[in-house]
Amino acid sequence: MPSSQKIEETLNYIKECSPGQDEFYQATQEVLYSLKPLLDRDNRYLEHNILDRIVVPERTIIFRVNWVNDAGKVETNLGYRVQFSSTIGPYKGGLRFHPTVNLGIIKFLGFEQIFKNALTGLQIGGAKGGSNFDPKGKSDNEIMRFCQSFMNELYKHIGKHKDVPAGDIGVGAREIGYLFGQYKKLTGEFEGILTGKGLNWGGSKARKEATGYGSVYFAENFLKVYGKGLKGKKCAVSGSGNVAIYTIEKLYEMGAIPVSCSDSRGTIYKEDGIDLKALKAIKEIHHSSLEEYATVDCKCLYTPVSHYPEGGHAVWHLPCDIAFPSATQNELTLIDAQKLAENGCILINEGANMPTTAEALEFIRQSDMLFSPGKAANAGGVATSQLEMSQNASMAQWSFQEVDIKLRTIMQNIFKTAYDTSIEFGHKGDLVMGANIAGFRKVADSMIDQGSV
Ligand code: NAP
Repeated sequence: MPSSQKIEETLNYIKECSPGQDEFYQATQEVLYSLKPLLDRDNRYLEHNILDRIVVPERTIIFRVNWVNDAGKVETNLGYRVQFSSTIGPYKGGLRFHPTVNLGIIKFLGFEQIFKNALTGLQIGGAKGGSNFDPKGKSDNEIMRFCQSFMNELYKHIGKHKDVPAGDIGVGAREIGYLFGQYKKLTGEFEGILTGKGLNWGGSKARKEATGYGSVYFAENFLKVYGKGLKGKKCAVSGSGNVAIYTIEKLYEMGAIPVSCSDSRGTIYKEDGIDLKALKAIKEIHHSSLEEYATVDCKCLYTPVSHYPEGGHAVWHLPCDIAFPSATQNELTLIDAQKLAENGCILINEGANMPTTAEALEFIRQSDMLFSPGKAANAGGVATSQLEMSQNASMAQWSFQEVDIKLRTIMQNIFKTAYDTSIEFGHKGDLVMGANIAGFRKVADSMIDQGSV
């Protein structure tokens, strides 16, 4: 059967078996279409039916999470863990707590994670989990009780050689702490079953910074190939969470000017650079909205969501040289991409997972703009999680500088792998194709080695 026919057959199968899972379908479509040159060159992947096998998670766990709010009432949420692939190592991938979480979102994230983890060059499989619990507006005690109830089920399915979750949207150091405490209480074991842990109890230095720093290192490598650098470049960053904050921090260190950040309520623009100290205080300490930033930094421009361009996002309509989408999926649409091109943007570097819509991606790939796909550019977080696991296994703690140097080397290698693969398949600089083929090939070859399990 020709590869294009098999790709369509697998995509139809996904559509039939996963109704309403739009983000999952979007993610599989992007990966499968970009694999065509590999499938045409080597027919072992179709012979072993790898496409049908790789799009189905090895295990999907859905559970009820009951917890008691501060008023003494019982509330109920859904919990998920999708263990997608353990072909090259124990399952690894974050937990997301956000009201938009559903099975389709967790499956898209878990699917992306397989290839991202393979690209790091480390022995880690792919998974993702989370809940439709909304941490916003909850007290610390409510968050603790929710995390404890969530772990009451999750602990049965994870383990240091089996599945090691980490954070993602809505799950930071505080949540990892509560989850870890409950795991220890339930099992009586002090084990490295989560990453993103506190520095006093098994965490790694530079883990908090890793995804944002890694994203900037990736951009640095990409620009270098074209004789360009970050120094003096105006950078539009979306989001104001973990990834966005440490992207902004590293951009300053590299001499770039991060001119924006955003959250679910609005966008901040400041031509001479975001005040990082004020941003950290508002987001990391007060956990409040960027509306507050606008009150402390009077030179900035605040655009609430109600004033965004129709079908687009204000953050991508600002003049910039480089865009770092670092908030959430599908936050950069076709009209946003067109505006970036019109404004002379040279690179879109994805810090978030699948922040670019399918239509926007198609436009970008045909434009002159460079594009770094999230599964390569944001892999610094999971890579450093693996470094945390190594430190736990050897009971060591490396210095910040040691971890940062390793992270920088890993990002350089990931870039090289994706870039070299794009050349190998005759599409120089198409890192969507390069990253997807390189990640897939490693996992698919290993699946063939391990038989039809
Ligand atoms: P985070 O700390 O929770 O921050 C998320 C940011 O995105 C917040 O500013 C949030 O605004 C904004 N946001 C979330 N949903 C939004 C929506 N629907 N519309 C507009 N803004 C929205 O999460 P994070 O860890 O930085 O993760 C950001 C992205 O990076 C996600 O795609 C995640 O999967 C990806 N990622 C994270 C890591 C990691 O190590 N953390 C690693 C790889 C990839 P509000 O605060 O107003 O909600």
